[in-house]
Amino acid sequence: MDHPLRAWRDTLEELGVMGLVREPLPPSPAPEPRLEPARPAAPPRPVAPSRPVAPAPRSAAAYVPPSDPVGCPPPDVVAGAASLGELEQAIRGCLACPLGPCRIKFVFGEGDPGARLMFVGEGPGRDEDLQGRPFVGRAGELLDKMIGAIGLKRTEVYIGNVVKCRPPDNRTPTPDEARACLGYLRRQIELIQPAVIVTLGATPLRELVGVTEGITRVRGQWKRVVVGGREIPVMPTFHPAYVLRQYTQDVRRAVWADLKAAKEWVDKAAGA
Ligand code: SF4
Repeated sequence: MDHPLRAWRDTLEELGVMGLVREPLPPSPAPEPRLEPARPAAPPRPVAPSRPVAPAPRSAAAYVPPSDPVGCPPPDVVAGAASLGELEQAIRGCLACPLGPCRIKFVFGEGDPGARLMFVGEGPGRDEDLQGRPFVGRAGELLDKMIGAIGLKRTEVYIGNVVKCRPPDNRTPTPDEARACLGYLRRQIELIQPAVIVTLGATPLRELVGVTEGITRVRGQWKRVVVGGREIPVMPTFHPAYVLRQYTQDVRRAVWADLKAAKEWVDKAAGA
């Protein structure tokens, strides 16, 4: 038996009225975008200078240094450098550790080649990598002030680092990287023959002097390092970047006391 509705539907169809046949629903309109209050346009980001494209080593273990004398300066060439200029010439193409291929500029160090006071930091940061000079960013400005506070100018001291190439993201150099570079720093010290070395932060104290205790514990306590058969007094103090982060009166007083002690020793050595 026919369903009564079917007959009714057929009648409507004949009349051209199709309302009983459900048409597919039109797609629902897209939701109106929510109006957010207009944000101020972000200032354009500074464009970083392009780095030389160099294959980044995947890990320190995977890095194979070159064997040529430019990429890996032989120890006898380093030891035979008779001046800081000669040493820099010999090592500025160095790729002996994984930091080399990532650098923009090699940061040898700078200052008075006959300085009585030498500062040793950890390694170049972003500003130093861009300029090829040690301690030129905010930490460098503070170091300049620290040097000025003891009555000296930056040009009257020597400033160097444990590693000459910037560690990525300013991380601490690995022990292998520090070891690969340390011979260069030691030759610098032999050539400069400072009366006193001030180490800035834990890394130079650990890598150059072999002291592994925390810097907070040992800062202000005299240590010694033997370089080229000469024993040199070492005054450990905080890195200027740490002082900027912990800009308290206690930290500033501590650094001031350390630098004052170093300067007194320099003056005493000069008078002896
Ligand atoms: S950090 Fe030192 S050892 Fe490593 S590539 Fe640079 S100069 Fe050479």
